[in-house]
Amino acid sequence: MKTLNKPLNNIQMSEIQKTKCLIIGSGPAGYTAAIYAARADMSPVLYQGMQPGGQLTTTNEVENFPGYPEGITGPDMMVQLEAQAKRFETDVRFGFINKVDFSGDVHKCWADDGTEIHADTVIISTGASAKYLGLESEQKYLKMGGGVSACAVCDGFFYRGQETIIVGAGDSACEEAHYLSKLCSKVTMLVRRDEFRASRIMAERVKNTDNIEILFNTDTIEVLGDGQGVTGALVKNNKTGEEKTVNATGFFVAIGHKPNTDIFKGQINLDETGYIEYEQAGTSKTNVAGVFVAGDAADKTYRQAITAAGTGCMAALDAERYLAAKGH
Ligand SMILES: Cc1cc2nc3c(=O)[nH]c(=O)nc-3n(C[C@H](O)[C@H](O)[C@H](O)COP(=O)(O)OP(=O)(O)OC[C@H]3O[C@@H](n4cnc5c(N)ncnc54)[C@H](O)[C@@H]3O)c2cc1C
Repeated sequence: MKTLNKPLNNIQMSEIQKTKCLIIGSGPAGYTAAIYAARADMSPVLYQGMQPGGQLTTTNEVENFPGYPEGITGPDMMVQLEAQAKRFETDVRFGFINKVDFSGDVHKCWADDGTEIHADTVIISTGASAKYLGLESEQKYLKMGGGVSACAVCDGFFYRGQETIIVGAGDSACEEAHYLSKLCSKVTMLVRRDEFRASRIMAERVKNTDNIEILFNTDTIEVLGDGQGVTGALVKNNKTGEEKTVNATGFFVAIGHKPNTDIFKGQINLDETGYIEYEQAGTSKTNVAGVFVAGDAADKTYRQAITAAGTGCMAALDAERYLAAKGH
């Protein structure tokens, strides 16, 4: 059902639309939720957001998603997921949700074009954004798929037997450094301060790994390359001012992620770092009845396409059961 508000003077005409299921986000979580919701006759509406296809559109090869024995590029995979969601008549829209009000029984959401949506269920799959250093050279090799990555589990395999650098000092950085150490001949870890932020046990594990060299008090000045790919990094000791080159073919950034959840602040429970909290472990339920979460927006542990897709499936099934229980 669709109702149109009357236009007020020069103010843009806004629409109110009703849907059984609104999906916010078009990564693996959102499209998988759409496939399940559409096949359950929920006629889902999906907003793609500023990055249609999500994080995987920023990477070249995806070799660890089941079903692609030869691997597939991230953008190609997301085109296929979108096509599969559309095959079952998901209403896929280019645009983003910029405001929500979950205080009532009907969940109100507003899109950037002024459309007001009243949704019986909402599936949040807005993902997270990896943080980068912001160096021009880093962004250049990141965009060309030339050896800069924010995901060791995803891309470490491509650097087997090679030397790599990892930047970061927290638990994730230590875990990723350790992961890389099992694949790479040498891992150089660049830590800005004179100590780790990671827990002692994680820091000790890294310190006790023979092929990990830790450079404390070290900043990255520039990612070095030959125009095709990374060859190393120019680094500087921020205490002594000494600069040197570290050789590597892979440059990994592990300085954290920012979940894309700002619009949900004050509407659902978030943890202190902005990740959406599950109300009930083993489900996709948030603390608001009828609002579910899938993928990296709630996952600071696994952060993989397959886990995002898996939780997308869970969210659609939970939404369908919620509607059934309400007699829809
Ligand atoms: C460089 C890189 C390489 C990677 N390689 C691999 C790999 O090889 N294998 C693997 O399994 N994983 C890989 N990952 C991790 C994987 O990409 C993520 O785990 C996965 O994409 C998370 O899926 P998601 O659906 O939760 O969110 P995302 O993919 O982050 O998608 C979020 C979506 O939400 C949308 N959105 C955000 N805010 C709004 C809003 N307000 N309104 C509407 N839409 C919104 C965005 O536009 C986007 O479409 C990689 C990640 C990176 C960064």
